[in-house]
Amino acid sequence: MEQLTAIRDLQEKLKIQVILPQDDTYDKERSIYNAMIDKRPAMIVKCKNKKDVQAAVLFARKEGIEVSVRGGGHNGPGLALVDEGMVIDLSLMKDIQIDPNKQTAVLEAGCLLKEVDKATHEHGLALPSGIIGTTGVGGLTLGGGIGYLSRKAGLTIDHLREAEIVLASGEVVTANETSHPDLFWAIRGGGGNFGIVTSFTFNLSPIKNVYAGPMFWPIEQAHEAMTFYDEFTKNASNDLYGFFAFLIVPPGDPFPEHLHSKNVCGVVWCYTGPMEKAEEVFKPIRQFGPPILDFVSEIPMPALNGMFDELYPPGMQWYWRAHFIKELTDDAIRENIKHGSKIPSMHSTTHLYPIDGTVHDVKSEDTAWAKRDVRWSQVIVGVDPDSENADKVTKWCKDYYDGLIPHAEEGAYVNFMMEEGESRIKASYGDNYKRLAEIKAKYDPDNFFHVNQNIKPI
Ligand SMILES: Cc1cc2nc3c(=O)[nH]c(=O)nc-3n(C[C@H](O)[C@H](O)[C@H](O)COP(=O)(O)OP(=O)(O)OC[C@H]3O[C@@H](n4cnc5c(N)ncnc54)[C@H](O)[C@@H]3O)c2cc1C
Repeated sequence: MEQLTAIRDLQEKLKIQVILPQDDTYDKERSIYNAMIDKRPAMIVKCKNKKDVQAAVLFARKEGIEVSVRGGGHNGPGLALVDEGMVIDLSLMKDIQIDPNKQTAVLEAGCLLKEVDKATHEHGLALPSGIIGTTGVGGLTLGGGIGYLSRKAGLTIDHLREAEIVLASGEVVTANETSHPDLFWAIRGGGGNFGIVTSFTFNLSPIKNVYAGPMFWPIEQAHEAMTFYDEFTKNASNDLYGFFAFLIVPPGDPFPEHLHSKNVCGVVWCYTGPMEKAEEVFKPIRQFGPPILDFVSEIPMPALNGMFDELYPPGMQWYWRAHFIKELTDDAIRENIKHGSKIPSMHSTTHLYPIDGTVHDVKSEDTAWAKRDVRWSQVIVGVDPDSENADKVTKWCKDYYDGLIPHAEEGAYVNFMMEEGESRIKASYGDNYKRLAEIKAKYDPDNFFHVNQNIKPI
């Protein structure tokens, strides 16, 4: 009863929208990108600004309610939601301020990548981020942020100048190189462990158009293709990015009919050097094979970032696993082909995202993101629209993951992980884990923010 009065206060006095299980919109509001997740929060607090976030934090602390934080709702294991607790939902917080002269952006925490891309592109600028437009800038940034511009410009966190954060105490602080520098270090890779970021200030890169798109080879040529890709990208300039993939060609436009539903391998390229040099850079790539499909051409950056959005709408079943890969040995290639040629559904795939180039210019101890010496972050995703196939795609994903263990480094990119336990989180942060746990103890000693890839305070 007391809690109901307190909720009414949030709603009426503070004018914050609170969605409860009896509300018509409850099921819609509790649905997230991954339909495999079915959590039932006690309330969803739709915050409009940092004051609302602060009020929600103070309310939850006072009432002893568990809290989760929702940005874009893309997190694989569904850490945006919490059963029987409070979801602090930031999805209405979408203000975007671009300063074209300083080449910076101030983004509220509910922005999605496609909204950021659109706004920055109007000024000939881009924020290095991820490859699907419906991903939230909040969760992606706090975990690190990998995408087509990683080799050229680094991770998303390498562009973060400042963040405004509501702490577990309810206090609002600014974290940057001089204000709370320990917190600023921790949020660059340490996830949502340290507080709720209400806005991010980023440096932007002057990138407008790119020479980019997918290129496929027959699965029978996968060994040669992967070896060629490995050698070619090892020696390429940071202007060239390409993630290797095993996939099934979607049975529809714009793909030619003879390739529909075929299991192939390929690379999605992104070249950011001078456009007049692009054809020359791609000449040896096109000579290899030759490719059975070549959709690489000059396109606007947001067209590349949004290229797969339609193929992957919200509401499908997703099961994820991930590895850090240092080297593509012959054995590793063979293991990839073994699983990559048995993809269980049209949407399931694996991507090897390069994280070398400029990512390696930052030292592992300079931000919480600890793995600045690996070449790829590999993700394996079992995906299907039909819940009947959830077990099938999950099994394929787990088998693939297990098979790669001998060829992978310890740990993985936290944003590509399911709930895999404390030892896996520790391995992912490596030598940075102890410092993260100390900073956690300073800013969140009670582990109030624990619905995440959790770092426990020490
Ligand atoms: C289809 C798809 C494509 C993806 N592609 C990429 C990619 O190209 N590159 C890449 O790096 N990652 C990618 N990811 C992974 C993505 O980075 C994570 O799923 C990330 O968690 C998404 O952020 P979100 O805000 O949408 O998540 P949510 O599910 O809303 O939140 C996830 C977690 O992040 C934390 N969090 C979110 N916002 C805040 C905040 N403002 N303050 C404090 N904590 C917060 C919370 O702990 C929360 O539990 C992809 C995911 C999907 C599903």
